[in-house]
Amino acid sequence: MSVKCTHCYLSIKMDNQVNHRGKGLGVEIQCPHCQAWLGRSRILSGLKLVGFYGAVSAGLVGYFLELDTRLVSLGMILFAIVLAVSHLMDHLLVTQAPEISSARALRQVSERKRQARDAEP
Ligand SMILES: [Zn+2]
Repeated sequence: MSVKCTHCYLSIKMDNQVNHRGKGLGVEIQCPHCQAWLGRSRILSGLKLVGFYGAVSAGLVGYFLELDTRLVSLGMILFAIVLAVSHLMDHLLVTQAPEISSARALRQVSERKRQARDAEP
């Protein structure tokens, strides 16, 4: 599995030794190409969990308990909408940009970009 860095736009293979920090919803990974730290929004990740478990819970409640099916269906639909919207909006964000203090470091990043572009078929 690989993700694309939102800072340098190179792919990051997740099976490599990728540095990470934080726990749970606040986990961040470091791009091995440009050293930028990337993470997801905690709010959107939390909404995704709420949407998923809310929809599953509403489905189970509707199946096992004798409740108004319109009410259960409405709950499932609303949780599914929360899940879909938060999933579409949730992308990797640059949480800490790399400190590029010299023109040499900038050249190294652009050189890696060029090498990655040449390596692709
Ligand atoms: Zn990067």
